[in-house]
Amino acid sequence: MDDARLLAAARDLLATGPVCDNCLGRPFADRSFGLGDDERGRGLRTAVALADDADFQPADTADCWVCEGVCADFDDWADRAAAAVEGVEFDSYQVGTRVPPLLEENGDLFRADAGLDSDAGEPLRKEFNREVGKRFGRLTGAEVEFERPDVQFLLDVAEDTVETTVNSAFVYGRYRKLERDIPQTEWPCSDCHGTGRADGGVCETCEGTGYLYPESVEQLTAPVVEDVMDGVDSTFHGAGREDVDALMLGTGRPFVVEVDEPRRRDIDVGRLEADVNAFAEGKVEVEGLRRCTHGMVERVKRLDASKRYRAAVAFDADVEADELADALTELDGATVEQYTPNRVDHRRAGKTRIRVAHEVSGELVDARHATVEVHGEGGLYIKELISGDEGRTEPSLAGLLGVGATVSELDVLAVEGEDEPFEDDEFFVD
Ligand SMILES: [Zn+2]
Ligand SMILES: [Zn+2]
Repeated sequence: MDDARLLAAARDLLATGPVCDNCLGRPFADRSFGLGDDERGRGLRTAVALADDADFQPADTADCWVCEGVCADFDDWADRAAAAVEGVEFDSYQVGTRVPPLLEENGDLFRADAGLDSDAGEPLRKEFNREVGKRFGRLTGAEVEFERPDVQFLLDVAEDTVETTVNSAFVYGRYRKLERDIPQTEWPCSDCHGTGRADGGVCETCEGTGYLYPESVEQLTAPVVEDVMDGVDSTFHGAGREDVDALMLGTGRPFVVEVDEPRRRDIDVGRLEADVNAFAEGKVEVEGLRRCTHGMVERVKRLDASKRYRAAVAFDADVEADELADALTELDGATVEQYTPNRVDHRRAGKTRIRVAHEVSGELVDARHATVEVHGEGGLYIKELISGDEGRTEPSLAGLLGVGATVSELDVLAVEGEDEPFEDDEFFVD
């Protein structure tokens, strides 16, 4: 578009009726980066008046037939958005706008009257998002963010409402579980489906609590995080889980607590750590708490992890120290074939999985007992590696010894990323 054509188009647009500066400038939004649409419109109005030596008539936004005056309300919308999140901590935001269909149609007619493409410049919705967003940013000091902002607004112009979403906040850490018979997450009673009631009375299985286990790692940690962040709900995401009767020791297991609709984000994680540990009373301990991104949830759930275990093993017959040493040397570094164990969920289809036992070592406690440490690839079934699971796991300690062997206690000593650590700076907030 040359300058004569530009001026002619502006003249045609002005001839359609009373038009505000924003609406006049918007069809030229792709020209002169750095100007607002209102500045473009004001410039064109001035240029047309000068070219035609006509009296200058300033625009009155309230009279604009294209936007019906809504372009005068950017400050007001920004004020309302800021008021909607008063008392909420956030660093980033995003503004979206639902423009009434009638106003969108006006924009199309307006451009058509001047022979412009219906998508010339930018739609009203886009100017709204940017102009209200800029004002909201100035009011609150927050940064605009398109991927996953802390707070989001949908301005519904027809309904005259501001819909506000406060997105979740996330805290990463590692937990140790120092007592047995604590599941990782809430375990509702299967007999009463968590209601605590059965046959018109109190459920006997759970004594009316609704839970098969009264506490979980989740219940001992997440409520404290939720409370400190002043949220409305929380979810515990673990990097796998140990058996209910297993301890989680050593460097602990990675986890993320997700807090819904937090009013606080800028928390003192050192203090939170102390608060969680006080609340959990030594049954569970957490460390390394840090605020993290939404992406960390997927990371703890999906990253390939190897595990280090310590198993207390009981033998059916006496075993000599050198026999045990030879069998463990065989298992050390072995590739193990495991058909789905009987104890595993029967709904899971039976199949053979192949996993590496990276390191295996151990020693006799007495002729009938041993302690065995296994560093295994993720998914290696440890109880079956010891017992052989009636021939379904090959090789196994029991198979190599020719003596029945069972795990009486199994503890997890470490959960580490197979190829890289869980703790990647890209996934942490400040
Ligand atoms: Zn207008
Ligand atoms: Zn029950």
